[in-house]
Amino acid sequence: RGRWHLFSPLDPGREQLNDRILWKEEIAEALHQDRFELHFQPIIDLATGAPCHMEALLRMRDREGGMVFPDRFIPIAEKTGQIQIIDHWVLSQVIEVLASHPGLRIAVNLSGNAMVDPTILRELKRLIQLHSLTPERLSFEITESVAIDSLTSATRLMKSIQELGCRFALDDFGSGYASYAYLRQLPVDDIKIDGAFIRDLPNNQEDRIFVKAITDMAHGMGKRVIAEFVESAEILDVLEDIGVDCAQGYFFARPAPLQDLE
Ligand code: C2E
Ligand code: MG
Ligand code: MG
Ligand code: MG
Repeated sequence: RGRWHLFSPLDPGREQLNDRILWKEEIAEALHQDRFELHFQPIIDLATGAPCHMEALLRMRDREGGMVFPDRFIPIAEKTGQIQIIDHWVLSQVIEVLASHPGLRIAVNLSGNAMVDPTILRELKRLIQLHSLTPERLSFEITESVAIDSLTSATRLMKSIQELGCRFALDDFGSGYASYAYLRQLPVDDIKIDGAFIRDLPNNQEDRIFVKAITDMAHGMGKRVIAEFVESAEILDVLEDIGVDCAQGYFFARPAPLQDLE
């Protein structure tokens, strides 16, 4: 970042930094060469058994065409600042898909950076107007930890986005603080329970108690509950008993390019 720094070969930070510099170049090249793509995973309304919306999940192709998953490049893009370009790219792609597929609803993951990016709201308004979209067709997900790291700006952005008519979900709920104090401050419509508490539901009594308690609390607060990592019919049975509203996972469908899902 506009400085130079002398490292010894044994410096433990050196490899990490090399790695980050290489990845920064890789991400820049991928952006330039259009090697990002969105996959979509349906989210099922358990009351009807039909998909209610889809989550957009970002992938990057390496030079050989291999798929790179977001956990590998998003944390780096957040450190290098490239995440801002990525967030805007994802938003514009999703809006294009919505504009050309009138029946669809899509959820977009937002980074921590988006919470403090003053241009994101403006861009969102502009794109919704440009394509005359019904705003309810677009929803956003932020993880609990992102919301809490920038609580004031996250709350403000969430309120503005909701005023436009889009929905907001708190992602990976339970993996961080799972605190009622935050839940009552954050204006979320949906709670997505972290997959770690879902995948063992049939065998783990305590997870069942946790998921049931969160679901009852969310319903009491007028929010919907979505479960991720639903990998089997047994998990689905438990979720239906508990009264969870929506489910997403490999049991229904893996994330895939739009044309495959159609
Ligand atoms: P997330 O938003 O919690 O997304 C759910 C992750 O669980 C996805 O991983 C999805 O592919 C995976 N998944 C879905 N169903 C199952 C299942 O049944 N079993 C298992 N084991 N996994 C399942 P993915 O696509 O690798 O994304 C990882 C994370 O990267 C996401 O977590 C999200 O936080 C972030 N991310 C993805 N796309 C974007 C994006 O466009 N922008 C930003 N800022 N972050 C993104
Ligand atoms: Mg998500
Ligand atoms: Mg999640
Ligand atoms: Mg996650």
